[in-house]
Amino acid sequence: MKKDFFGSYRSDASRLKGEVLDVVHPKNVGEVRNAVLGNNKVVIRGAGTGLAGGAVPQGEVVLDLSKMIGISNFNKERRVVEIEAGVVLDDLQDYLRPWGCEFPIKPSSHAVATIGGMIATDAVGNRGVKYGKTSNWVKWVEVMDASGHIERKGITEMSDYVGMEGITGVVVRACLKLNPVMERSASLVRLESLLEVVELVRRLKMRRDVSSLEFLDKMMSKGVGFGEDGYYLIVEYENDEGELKGDEYDKVMAMRDAAYPFVAGEGYTRIEDPKVMLDKFPKLMSWLEANGIPTFGHIGVGILHPCFSIDQERLIPEMMKLVKRLGGQVSGEHGIGLLKRGFVEVNDQKILRNVKKRTDPWGKFNMGKVI
Ligand SMILES: Cc1cc2nc3c(=O)[nH]c(=O)nc-3n(C[C@H](O)[C@H](O)[C@H](O)COP(=O)(O)OP(=O)(O)OC[C@H]3O[C@@H](n4cnc5c(N)ncnc54)[C@H](O)[C@@H]3O)c2cc1C
Repeated sequence: MKKDFFGSYRSDASRLKGEVLDVVHPKNVGEVRNAVLGNNKVVIRGAGTGLAGGAVPQGEVVLDLSKMIGISNFNKERRVVEIEAGVVLDDLQDYLRPWGCEFPIKPSSHAVATIGGMIATDAVGNRGVKYGKTSNWVKWVEVMDASGHIERKGITEMSDYVGMEGITGVVVRACLKLNPVMERSASLVRLESLLEVVELVRRLKMRRDVSSLEFLDKMMSKGVGFGEDGYYLIVEYENDEGELKGDEYDKVMAMRDAAYPFVAGEGYTRIEDPKVMLDKFPKLMSWLEANGIPTFGHIGVGILHPCFSIDQERLIPEMMKLVKRLGGQVSGEHGIGLLKRGFVEVNDQKILRNVKKRTDPWGKFNMGKVI
């Protein structure tokens, strides 16, 4: 009975299934501390949209931070705001919009993902080509260790926590840097060949008014309704240069956000996130096309999202080998979690183990993840 009650907490968007011992829903830092001190091992969870199994428990207590939703100390002139870890990105944007500010990082899960989860995975998303990663926009984080002690970590110490997928401590609060809200428009460009895609992306990346370059292969483009038999590039401009504005702009962005839900509905449920340099993109894409694997992604920063059916999952190790041979990374934005531990290089594992020993010597947080 208990397991059914905790049903949705057994998994995250990776669809891996774990076992839940209990779930706690702290509403403030004091309650987070009680949960951390009162339990031997905890798995930290934001919205559970992670695609690598990072929030999937293995018989542990789930620390669900989604009720930590305070927003404070917004300063329009300095363009900063402080948030608790469970604030959902779109809720923050709604709060900031009347003041003409926004948080510029935009994962496609923006309607649900928490800022705590974005910090823990160092999320990238659609506007990476202009704004980089979440870590570029974090001024400090407050983290709780296994003894319940909280420390504020600024730019020089943040790397022990930002992008560490919760293995080093609980991010309870953060100060974010903001950007003014931009006027936006988009163009939808159809291209015949992968080389044409590379050439256009190379040119557009140089432009300061281009904030997003999103690629969809032929299968994906047809599926989301862009058109038959062509590669498509969604180019987002931070001015009125694109021909799609207002409702048309919103529509094309919603179609892009629907890419993964669409392809998952077609049975291609396992989404990966390799990252390669632009000149290696045609090689990786040719392999994916030859194996019938639908792909889309943030081409402006070299992150692709090949989507594998259950039958195709056996091809993932081969793809990872190719990605490494091309000098790329096995994960560009989703993190390692449970799913990609086997693909982490030995040297990187050593570094991660050392950070874990230093920050969580008690072995309380997210055990069995990443390393
Ligand atoms: C449809 C879809 C589209 C997506 N698009 C993108 C995209 O464009 N770019 C991108 O980068 N990702 C994307 N993702 C992946 C995911 O949304 C991001 O990784 C997001 O940042 C996770 O946030 P979350 O609140 O759901 O975290 P969760 O899934 O709950 O957790 C993710 C990891 O962070 C840890 N964690 C969560 N909160 C904290 C905290 N407060 N302190 C310490 N550790 C914590 C968890 O233990 C886990 O390891 C997408 C996912 C889906 C389902």
